[in-house]
Amino acid sequence: MFYSPDFRMLSREISQAGPADVERALGRKRLQLHDLAALLSPAAEPFLQKMAARSADITLKRFGRTTQLYAPIYLSNYCTNRCAYCGFSADNLIKRKCLTLDEAEQEAGILHDRGFQHILLVSGEAESAVDVDYMEAIALRLRNKFAAVAIEIQPMSTEHYRRLFNAGITAVAVYQETYDRDLYKTVHLSGKKRDFDYRLETPARVAAAGMREVGIGALLGLADWRAEGLAIGHHLNWLRREFWSTAFTVSFPRMRPAAGEFEPLQIVSEANLSQLIFALRLFDPDVGLIVSTREEERYRDGMLGLGPTRYSAGSCTAPGGYGKSDHEGEQFSVGDHRSLDEVCAMIRAKGFDPVCKDWDREFQISN
Ligand code: SF4
Repeated sequence: MFYSPDFRMLSREISQAGPADVERALGRKRLQLHDLAALLSPAAEPFLQKMAARSADITLKRFGRTTQLYAPIYLSNYCTNRCAYCGFSADNLIKRKCLTLDEAEQEAGILHDRGFQHILLVSGEAESAVDVDYMEAIALRLRNKFAAVAIEIQPMSTEHYRRLFNAGITAVAVYQETYDRDLYKTVHLSGKKRDFDYRLETPARVAAAGMREVGIGALLGLADWRAEGLAIGHHLNWLRREFWSTAFTVSFPRMRPAAGEFEPLQIVSEANLSQLIFALRLFDPDVGLIVSTREEERYRDGMLGLGPTRYSAGSCTAPGGYGKSDHEGEQFSVGDHRSLDEVCAMIRAKGFDPVCKDWDREFQISN
């Protein structure tokens, strides 16, 4: 079982790092957690360009000149949790919808016709709307159409993840939102999600079920982003030791405007986000790093090749949003509105290859 270190201790460790610690970390081939703390510290800010160059170099060696592309499909915005920061929170008076199996297949068909081969099925956390039977039925319908079908839904048991894996789901993303245990209780007002430890143990249950890939991350804008980065490093380190054959990704969701008008508790600038991405790349050369359409196109274009390995494109965050023109009931408004073709054109113009398919179901061995 993974025990997340005390959040305030992580913040303290980071604040104590000085320029000499940063230089030492930059000189190392294989970084330890204390090196990650140094690279996340304010003392590392003057070294940002050096970090970017090292991060770009490692990314090029491990992933080549490629960027993998995917799109989310929002299945349902019903949610029984009250998360203070989220547009889908049970309190918010938004139009609620859960797609039928046919509607979900239609949405997927639209993305398939646009050229997507990797999709991420997302939903609010309400088992009355989206449960393992529903997800299994969708997976069985979509698995021959797409190379990879990932999910981002409520945490489940290992047994349920195994069922979904056997139905064709290839990856699961589950973000801790914040590794600050005290703040976690403050922003998760009610619902099953209030159980910090059950959520924290979810990536291990996913990996134990045999899923090919597990995604972790924290919502940026709640707690000290530097300590969140170090906590992610601890979590990743532990997961790698326990599940050496699983692939891992980290996402960097920065808070966006959403229903409920929650204001971020911490401002995370683009420079901060970049430092976090570079630090994690240097710490874990093999981890997939995801920058979604939450970020503006200018930022995403500038970060290409510097550390991130996967971008979403042409995204809509409302259930059924691809088949209609309005985005009523969306989780948050996106920052990059370009289509898959437009994002691919940008990637090619910068001398990289957009990759819509890097996996095939034929490779998957059932449990
Ligand atoms: S963050 Fe997830 S669990 Fe919380 S309200 Fe939004 S959809 Fe529900």
